[in-house]
Amino acid sequence: MSKTIVVTGGARGIGASAVRLSAKRGWSVVFSYRANDSAAEATAAEAEALGGKVFAVKGDVTDEAAVIDLFERATETFGAIDGVVNNAGVLSPMSPLVDMTAERMRRIFDTNVLGSYFTVREAARRMSKSRGGRGGSIVNLSSAAAKLGAPNQHVDYAGSKGAMESMTIGLCKELGPEGIRVNAIRPGLIITDMHASGGDPGRAERLGVDTPAGRPGTADEVGEAIVWLLSDQASYVSGAILDVTGGR
Ligand code: NDP
Repeated sequence: MSKTIVVTGGARGIGASAVRLSAKRGWSVVFSYRANDSAAEATAAEAEALGGKVFAVKGDVTDEAAVIDLFERATETFGAIDGVVNNAGVLSPMSPLVDMTAERMRRIFDTNVLGSYFTVREAARRMSKSRGGRGGSIVNLSSAAAKLGAPNQHVDYAGSKGAMESMTIGLCKELGPEGIRVNAIRPGLIITDMHASGGDPGRAERLGVDTPAGRPGTADEVGEAIVWLLSDQASYVSGAILDVTGGR
């Protein structure tokens, strides 16, 4: 069955892979991004070439009105929404707890937690069967950091991803009766631009060799897991938190 999918942060990295792989299945996709217009245009063009109808909406997930607008534009263009990839997330340069600032903590939690809350709330408003939706699938992007911890590093980031895992488990129970499955993916060390924004561009390549897989992962290896969770093949999977870490 053809689907309509909304992806937050879909211009680059894992989100862009979810956009392309959804389009490859013939699904329609609307994705948001924060600033990088050229990356958004390139991803939309690549995805359309693979088969789906795709467009990008510039909008920050920390802006409640922008998230509502993203979902409105998706509904106006394609009708009912079947899947949401709650992907937009940010990392900050490494810092021990004693040096961590409130400003930094707020920036991470505003995007990773508050932005996720706006996203899943809008998804529930539009997908719930009791509100006229037809149910569907929400996929939240957590991180291996939520499970493994990151001593002296990423207390803010790991904490924000732990919040997403709690949100996943609670929403799976709340939204199940509405026909909505809610799952999360915990990526490990994946080669994307995010590590550069965390001040360590080569981190995934350097640490990835120490995983059981012996290498870092690619965005498409996470994207494949995302589209499976969105698909009807995962119809009885809800409340799962799936490690995509090469065994890390
Ligand atoms: P990237 O930095 O490569 O891409 C992030 C995308 O999200 C970009 O398109 C960016 O937009 C967009 N974005 C960032 N902030 C916002 C915002 N406030 N509003 C809207 N869009 C935003 O990240 P990854 O692909 O690596 O990460 C995707 C998700 O996976 C994140 O939640 C991350 O925490 C998680 N993850 C990643 C891992 C990794 O190793 N890469 C490991 C574990 C989890 P723009 O292009 O305009 O800047």
